[in-house]
Amino acid sequence: MKRRPVIAGNWKMYKTQAETSAFFSSFTPLVGAATHCDIVIAPPYTAIAAAVDSARGSKIAISAQDVFWEKEGAFTGEISANMLVEAGCRYVIIGHSERRQYFGEIDETVAKKTKTALGAGLTPIVCVGEMLAQREAGQTETVCRTQFTGGPGALTPEEFSRILIAYEPVWAIGTGKVATPEIAAAAHRFLRQCAESKFSTQAASSLRILYGGSVKPDNIQGLMAQPELDGALVGGASLDAKSFAAIVEGCEKR
Ligand code: PEP
Repeated sequence: MKRRPVIAGNWKMYKTQAETSAFFSSFTPLVGAATHCDIVIAPPYTAIAAAVDSARGSKIAISAQDVFWEKEGAFTGEISANMLVEAGCRYVIIGHSERRQYFGEIDETVAKKTKTALGAGLTPIVCVGEMLAQREAGQTETVCRTQFTGGPGALTPEEFSRILIAYEPVWAIGTGKVATPEIAAAAHRFLRQCAESKFSTQAASSLRILYGGSVKPDNIQGLMAQPELDGALVGGASLDAKSFAAIVEGCEKR
């Protein structure tokens, strides 16, 4: 099964509206000819409108970094899936390790958010991955299985067919310590097995799994040489137009 690669940038809490417009002025021409992968950028909420405006006419899709599971109501500070769609988002990141670590995200809320996002027509990028102590204790597969089962595994087969998963080992996020291509591929293979056991061989083989954790222009080619990797979720290196464009380009040479 040939899976189309995706390169997604997670800007976290970086970039004002003006900085977002400036980024797109540099980035869009650099990737204008790229047809080998889907390109997604997730700015902070306040810069979504600027990003959607700047990306109009290009193939770059805009994502949110989170979503709430209710349609509307007294939920101060939250944003609904329909609001994101209206703002022009096509994707949403759900269950990022920073949400899990600092904001109480759990597998159950990941599943609820994912269902709501799908119901609104968004494509969720659902993140899973182990902490350093868990890897060192030999618990990587247990953690990935638990997060898979409670999150994406709680979807219907039809819902599952419309999500992406990002494997993001927490020890590699923002640390400069990228997983080796072999370590990343082993985790992706394991997650694909989880998808096969829960859903079907077909569902597992069409699932796109992105790797995330210190992806840079100089390591993307090695990672993408692993057929198990279907792209990358990029934090720090997505903030610079040239470096993110180099990652998009590097993903072509698999
Ligand atoms: C991320 O935020 O999802 C991420 C992978 O960050 P970084 O690329 O900076 O490690």
